[in-house]
Amino acid sequence: MTKTPSARGKIFFFSGPSGVGKGTLINYLRETKTDWIFPPSCTTRAPRPGEIDGETYFFITKEEFEARIKKGDFLEYAHVHGDTYYGTLKAEILEPIAEGKTVIREFDVQGFSQARERLDRNDFVSIFLRPAEDLDTLVRRIKERAPITEEELAKRVNSMEKELELADIYDYQIFSEDGNLEKLFNDAEAIIRQEQSD
Ligand code: 5GP
Repeated sequence: MTKTPSARGKIFFFSGPSGVGKGTLINYLRETKTDWIFPPSCTTRAPRPGEIDGETYFFITKEEFEARIKKGDFLEYAHVHGDTYYGTLKAEILEPIAEGKTVIREFDVQGFSQARERLDRNDFVSIFLRPAEDLDTLVRRIKERAPITEEELAKRVNSMEKELELADIYDYQIFSEDGNLEKLFNDAEAIIRQEQSD
């Protein structure tokens, strides 16, 4: 017997340290789940060659961004790289959820912490991607892959440790094994399928 899917959709948030396979997972889902929604963020930075307004980002002016902050249009936003704003519009997520759609979004831990305060608990599911290896193995692999200064390495390790400390606030944690993307894809899809039928 199959359950009738609930009328309201859900957003699935993915976080995890850089290099864990998040981008690859989201790209895979984007290519294979054509009825799912992958909402772009807004930014005040200029488009780079090849970037499309409304696809890569919504490119808006600083004035418009600040006006929309005042109106309370953002689910979360951040001032990144000096004077550039980045943010997620509430409507880009809430409208598809109201239409029963599955929405997928990648966030860093800070972005997710803000967003979850502003959403109905039933509207989101959060998934943290964790490297299956311990930190020493990861550091060794980073060093083997490309030349890296000690300073850059220390920065990467520090941000990885910070992200891992906050992993417990997520509903699910899945392990990403180096070279086993198929398992990562299957684990993520299994969680999404299960949550969609709840
Ligand atoms: P880029 O300018 O290279 O496209 O992105 C730079 C940074 O902005 C990335 O680290 C990315 O995580 C962050 N970013 C992109 N979109 C958003 C967003 O909607 N909210 C927040 N808080 N950060 C974002």
